Order: sequence, then C-alpha cells, then structure tokens
Amino acid sequence: MQDLSRCEICPRKCGVNREKGNAGVCRTDKKISIARAAPHYWEEPCISGKNGSGTVFFSGCNLGCVFCQNREISRFSVGKEVSVAELAAIFENLQEKGVHNINLVTPSHFVPQISAALDIAKLNIPVVYNSGGYDLPETLDMLDSKVKIFLPDFKYMSCSLGEKFSNAPDYPEIAKAAIKKMFSLGGKPRFDKDGIMKSGVIVRHLVLPDHADDSKAVIKYLYDTYGDNIYISIMNQYTPVCDTAYAELGRAVSDEEYNEVVAFAEKIGVKNAFIQEGGTVSESFIPEFDTKKD
Ligand code: SF4
Repeated sequence: MQDLSRCEICPRKCGVNREKGNAGVCRTDKKISIARAAPHYWEEPCISGKNGSGTVFFSGCNLGCVFCQNREISRFSVGKEVSVAELAAIFENLQEKGVHNINLVTPSHFVPQISAALDIAKLNIPVVYNSGGYDLPETLDMLDSKVKIFLPDFKYMSCSLGEKFSNAPDYPEIAKAAIKKMFSLGGKPRFDKDGIMKSGVIVRHLVLPDHADDSKAVIKYLYDTYGDNIYISIMNQYTPVCDTAYAELGRAVSDEEYNEVVAFAEKIGVKNAFIQEGGTVSESFIPEFDTKKD
C-alpha cells in the first residue's frame, strides 16, 4: 500500500506523516475509521434499488464544508478503527445482505487503504465512489478497474464560494479535473435489466440558499462538457446548520429557488437527471433506462 509518511493523496497536499499518527486537514491518520456500514435506501433510485446500497461512511473529510450535513462524522471523526482486512470483510458482509453495490461515502482521504481492501474482498457487485469531488486524478487511478460507479459532488463553480464555504478556492478546477478522470474510469452509464446502475458517473449538486446562479453555472458546465453521457442529481435537501457565520445559510432552499434551477436544467436540454421531491431523490426528465440496459 502507498506510504503515507508525506501525505499528498488529495488536493490539500498537507505533507503530514500519517504513518506516524499525524493528521492533516482530513483529521485522520493512516488508520481507517468508519462511522457506519449498512444498507441505505435513499440514494438515487438506480443506486439504492429495492435491496439498498451497501454504504460505508468513512470518518473525517478533506473538505470540511461549513454547511456539512454530516459533521459528526466529517469533523469530529466519530468512528470505529478497522484494518484493511476488516474493511474487506465489511464489504463482503454487506454484499451477503443482498445490496446492489458497495457505496464508499467520503472516501477521498482513504483511497490507498480502500484500494488495498478491494484487492482482498471478493465482490461481484459494483463499487460506488461517493466523494465531495475534491480528488486528485492520480489518486483516482488507484481505483482503476476496482470502482465502476462514480458519485461525486460538484459543489460550486465560483472560486469565492469554494473559499468561503470549504476553504478551497481551487474547488472548481479540482472538481472539473476529478470528474474528467472519473468519466474516463467509469464511462457512459450502463444499467442492468432492472434499471440498477452497473457503471458510469452521476454528479450531485446541492442547491444552496441564495446561490441559484452558481447552481445553474455548475449544471451548464456539466451538460456542455458531458451531455447525456453522465447523470446530474440536483438536490434540495440542504438543512440549515445552527452555528453558521453566513447569514444566507441560515434557511432552507425555497421551492422557488430549487424549481428555478430544475427549470434551467430542462431548458438547456438536460435529460439524464434526478430531482428531489420532499427530500427524496426521484427519477426525472425520463432517464433513458430502456436504451442502456445490458
Ligand atoms: S488525505 Fe488528509 S492528510 Fe493527506 S493530503 Fe488530503 S487532507 Fe492532507
């Protein structure tokens, strides 16, 4: 497994010695820490299906967004330490439960360890890489032929929003390069006869209050670049966090704002998309499942 004595596996490039127990921005040293491993039923329909997605939530995060909806896990690094072999066994146990895939949630800072676990685990279901989109292409290469489905965020098109909310002014440029690499690894979307995704890329975008224009810029970039070769999941589940220093983050996204973003996507021609109604992801814009089955 890759030596982490000078960790530069994600765009933060902290250079800390994780082998010796030090932690960088992600707040984790070399030891794998997971907060939860269980079937999950509320992802996009082609990911959750009827049997659920086998989610493994990793502790810590390399982004640390101020509005994080999972901050107990991402900030405070709540979790249980597991070895590479134990992680492989967790993947296999989830598979035995009948889930449609293994879903790695916030995996960016553990890619070498995950890659080693995937070398051991005997899996016959696809693996989903579910990240904040702040990944390095060369690190993603470690997952070549091991991960078939990529489910990254594209959070902002504006560098100033990346700086303000994630302390990452380079977020847009990093996310663009990461998604390009993910598309090269995952390819065009493929589904089985039941509409469950087997490979491909779904990019998630969480609409933030007061920033519908940035959401539109993200969607336009994705559609101009990838057309119908990826799916876009437009999310409205932003929940205000109580300790925010940013006034605009103190409320939920209004129906008007969300509908404006969805209408924009439809207007520019996006067909392969998911939208949320009442906080649940649903298929929309009539995804062309019938033409993409195995
Ligand atoms: S994985 Fe963690 S320690 Fe390594 S560069 Fe990224 S944030 Fe820093």
